[in-house]
Amino acid sequence: MQDSNPYRDPKQKRVLIIGGGAAGFFTAIKIVEEDPSIAVTILEQGKDVLGKVKISGGGRCNLAHAEFIPRELSKNYPRGQRELLGPFNSFSSGDTMAWFEERGVAVKIEDDGRIFPMSNSSQSVVDCFLNACKKYGVKIMTTRKVLNVYPPEESNQCWKAICGNREQYFADHLVIATGSSKFMWEQISHLGHTIVPPVPSLFTFNIKDPRIKDLMGLSVPNAEVQIKALKAKNHGPLLITHWGMSGPGILKISAVKARELYALNYQFEIKVNWILEKEQDVIDALTTQKQNDSKKKIHNTPLFDLPKRLWHSLCSYCGIKADLRWADMNKKMLFKLAQELCAGTYQVKGKSTFKEEFVTAGGVQLKEIDFKTYESKILYRLYFTGEALDIDAVTGGFNFQAAWTSGFLAGQSIVKEFSK
Ligand SMILES: Cc1cc2nc3c(=O)[nH]c(=O)nc-3n(C[C@H](O)[C@H](O)[C@H](O)COP(=O)(O)OP(=O)(O)OC[C@H]3O[C@@H](n4cnc5c(N)ncnc54)[C@H](O)[C@@H]3O)c2cc1C
Repeated sequence: MQDSNPYRDPKQKRVLIIGGGAAGFFTAIKIVEEDPSIAVTILEQGKDVLGKVKISGGGRCNLAHAEFIPRELSKNYPRGQRELLGPFNSFSSGDTMAWFEERGVAVKIEDDGRIFPMSNSSQSVVDCFLNACKKYGVKIMTTRKVLNVYPPEESNQCWKAICGNREQYFADHLVIATGSSKFMWEQISHLGHTIVPPVPSLFTFNIKDPRIKDLMGLSVPNAEVQIKALKAKNHGPLLITHWGMSGPGILKISAVKARELYALNYQFEIKVNWILEKEQDVIDALTTQKQNDSKKKIHNTPLFDLPKRLWHSLCSYCGIKADLRWADMNKKMLFKLAQELCAGTYQVKGKSTFKEEFVTAGGVQLKEIDFKTYESKILYRLYFTGEALDIDAVTGGFNFQAAWTSGFLAGQSIVKEFSK
């Protein structure tokens, strides 16, 4: 199946895509749908393609997010916010929905804005990609790990890729869509590109603390988390897990501060405001409650819409026994409870992988890429799409959006290049 002609030939328009993931497939399909005469080959190191798409979103594939204003959409990318603004004006969430619908994958928007296939199965997305590739004859070569790529020495020559089985492939245009592969980043750096060192993003915080010990599964709709050492804060839904704290509020701050938290070796202190109130206002509210409901038991009268179990746990932590009445609450207890409600400190010791979605911060440095085309500014006819770039997002379908957008624009640009 390998190629043998190392020279460019107008009768043989060839594109090679390394990486059979979300970005690689989207690029391939964009090219062949616009110009079926272009021969596109995908080289994938694994036995199967689209591995991450299959397991994404807990097997449901959260393929985009219902944020339709490019500037707002781009704010969800701790790395890539500025660079993605232009590309999102060409292809963003609405285009993604239309793209899938037009190819027979009905999609739906959930209450939190996440977009999924109506089937609730990532297999619909996989099948859609495989069918489109079959229709247009995209060659999908699995168990082809690319070990080296060589740029053309003359303008009439092709890009060359050599696989582990010694097969050689030649193409006019080369697309690198290898995701967060350290091996490929090393090869790319030999081509003269800078690689921003990779660190994990989107993770949950490991916390062992009596206040949350028996509260696994409990969620608070809007809590503020502050990382004191980084002077960073964020609010959003917070979920208590077996290991500590998770939920969109935690995941977002883990993404925004991915690099700084790596530098802290994931050992740091957070302050949690469970109720988004100021401490003095809480003191006032507790004092009023003490006066108005003096005969009621504190444990039985949770305030601020806090889940009962969390209220009990925080009260107990403040030394408030289950049968204590509001009238008998002393000042020390009252101040301590106010502090626990809006400024309790917790020690984070390590991180855990968020199973539904995780990504790597780092990759090909963005200033070396032309974001109109996703072509390298260093080497001609070389393109990068998807997570190989130093772009990543918070959770919610934004990471796939970046992959689709890059594939769309790179594919479009390659087709244009051939038509010149
Ligand atoms: C468990 C999990 C769930 C996720 N869920 C979601 C979600 O629901 N929504 C969302 O937006 N994002 C999600 N993400 C993130 C999303 O999957 C990635 O952002 C996206 O897959 C990136 O696409 P990509 O094509 O750039 O990389 P990948 O999907 O990683 O594809 C890269 C491909 O290149 C291949 N490859 C690498 N090196 C070589 C080589 N040398 N030769 C040949 N082939 C090579 C790899 O085997 C792989 O198949 C999830 C991630 C994970 C891990």
